[in-house]
Amino acid sequence: MEIEAILGKEKLDRNDLMMLLQATDEDKKLLFQRAEKIKLAEVGKKVHFRGLVEFSNICGKDCYYCGIRKSNRAVHRYDVTDEQILESARFAYEHDYGSLVLQSGELESPAFTDRIEKLLRSIKQISHGELGVTLSLGEQKKEVYERWYEAGAHRYLLRIETSNPELYRLYHPSDKLHDFARRLTSLQTLKRIGYQTGTGVMIGLPFQDTLQLADDLLFMKQFDVDMVGMGPYIEHRHTPLFQYRHELLPIRERFDLSLKMIAALRILMKDINIAAATALQAIDPLGREKAVKVGANIIMPNITPGKYRNDYALYENKPCVDEEPEECLNCLDVRIQLTDGEIGYGEWGDSKHFQKRTAVM
Ligand code: SAM
Ligand code: SF4
Repeated sequence: MEIEAILGKEKLDRNDLMMLLQATDEDKKLLFQRAEKIKLAEVGKKVHFRGLVEFSNICGKDCYYCGIRKSNRAVHRYDVTDEQILESARFAYEHDYGSLVLQSGELESPAFTDRIEKLLRSIKQISHGELGVTLSLGEQKKEVYERWYEAGAHRYLLRIETSNPELYRLYHPSDKLHDFARRLTSLQTLKRIGYQTGTGVMIGLPFQDTLQLADDLLFMKQFDVDMVGMGPYIEHRHTPLFQYRHELLPIRERFDLSLKMIAALRILMKDINIAAATALQAIDPLGREKAVKVGANIIMPNITPGKYRNDYALYENKPCVDEEPEECLNCLDVRIQLTDGEIGYGEWGDSKHFQKRTAVM
């Protein structure tokens, strides 16, 4: 089928999505133009910030793709102090970011639960309830998610990584801690509690093709997610998946495929929030801006104190590791204007999809 015919369809199926993901040249241009048009019509031209604080790289898990996995002894482990985290929150508040994301390795313990709960209350207090908070702290018990929700977190990001259980098993150890079913249940729990729920996948993993990526998009649609953050997989030499680097698409193709995933998702789920992943910027200095042009509407500027950034190395060549938050902000402002976008300073920029999904009739 011609690309125009697919783009004109009311409902896209797996084959349609595969065609979109395989589009090149003129077809790709049409895909991108269509996604941009839908974004402007449905969510507008505003881009919202989520100041990202990667406050610790200590992790209890061993995902085969991730540079900060527990078994990587070459990592210098750090844990930003609570005072420094609050300092970052103050920075986000004073610079009108609107929202904050707290992200770290995955830890499950009563002490960790208490710590996050306390931090959430303090962040709400210092920002007079004005700073929105997203958490990205992995799989936790229902009670833990509930306590954090009560303490003020209202969005949660938990990537499914791949919606294909067999592939998931290839990328993770086979034990209870890395169980696909638990990941899925966690996502369902988050949604039931009332979080704006976000998920996402890595794009260009070894053994993954456009059929599975099309299914990932359909999974997001079927799960009815409110937000998505997805980006290219980038190999890290101190991880088990590195041995399959020869199976990978060239890095520019992974980048290109990621943009097509974002564009196809915008067409499939018109009113959700889509983040431009930092990994895009690791490949192309203008990666995030290019993502905004083809459908993304959220950017997560890194506001982790500069000296810790080198150590949150999920993959190699992570961008902006030597910049202080203030410098990042100045360059982002100009860059977003270059995409014809506008930054929604001081606003939460909640998912319109979530607002509609939860509106009382
Ligand atoms: N530990 C939490 C979790 O796994 O949900 C949050 C932090 S984790 C570092 C955030 C995301 O980083 C993961 O969901 C994964 O998709 C991404 N990530 C890890 N290693 C990566 C790699 N080599 N390339 C690209 N993204 C990667
Ligand atoms: Fe830990 Fe998250 Fe990395 Fe997995 S992806 S090893 S849970 S930080």
